[in-house]
Amino acid sequence: MTGGSRGIGEAVALRLAEDGADVALTYQHSAERATEVVDRIKALGRRALAVRADSADAAAVRDAVDQAAAEFGRLDILVNNAGTGAIGPVGDVSLEDVDRVLSVNVRAPFLTSQAALRHMSEGGRIVTIGSCMAERAAFPGGALYATSKTALTGLTKALARELGPRGITANLIHPGPVDTDMNPADGPGADMQRGFTALGRYGQPSDIAATVAHLAGDGGRYVTGAAIAVDGGFAA
Ligand code: NDP
Repeated sequence: MTGGSRGIGEAVALRLAEDGADVALTYQHSAERATEVVDRIKALGRRALAVRADSADAAAVRDAVDQAAAEFGRLDILVNNAGTGAIGPVGDVSLEDVDRVLSVNVRAPFLTSQAALRHMSEGGRIVTIGSCMAERAAFPGGALYATSKTALTGLTKALARELGPRGITANLIHPGPVDTDMNPADGPGADMQRGFTALGRYGQPSDIAATVAHLAGDGGRYVTGAAIAVDGGFAA
């Protein structure tokens, strides 16, 4: 999985390990946090590997997948989680912002899926983390982020169609506001985001991890090409 050192990715890594998976995770900066997650997975009796790999670096992304496959022998589940936020008026978005966000949020899931598929067989699962902003642009300032997350719909549906004959599924989860470093529940825009949900509150990383586990487990056997909102009703 990509981006397993903090936030939603940390919760996903631990949940999949609890459910019996060995887990390889990437991170960009947080080496200590990544090591802590690895230690917690090992304490559960599973194998774990952390690889520093900036999702904006195509070679690093591909190498990380190959390292994971070499360590574990094969890949059964890929979770495309690493992502970067970008909120601000469209006129203020620089070309560098566009390139960075599209590299991390779009190009990396594409390349990671492409690389992982070489090591996946019948029963393989690809789960990608999108965003409720792909379904509802509820407030101004989301043009770049929503553009990037909406691209994952095309990736997921096309992968599902192409990989169905191989018995591999591809699905997308659209989280709503989830309390992480990227979007803290006590941050400046938090009350506004709460107000856009039907439940009137933030989700927890474990809420997203539970749906990843569902799709990666028996519950996902006949689910492919789907987008599942875990957003407290943000898009309702
Ligand atoms: P956080 O910022 O809390 O954590 C991001 C994780 O991804 C960290 O492990 C980080 O590694 C890693 N990461 C970030 N950029 C890169 C990169 N360039 N290369 C490799 N790893 C990277 O984010 P969240 O947990 O909140 O978000 C996870 C996913 O969920 C993202 O795709 C995000 O867009 C999506 N999402 C989040 C929502 C929210 O409200 N939190 C809502 C909707 C979608 P490191 O620790 O090394 O920096």
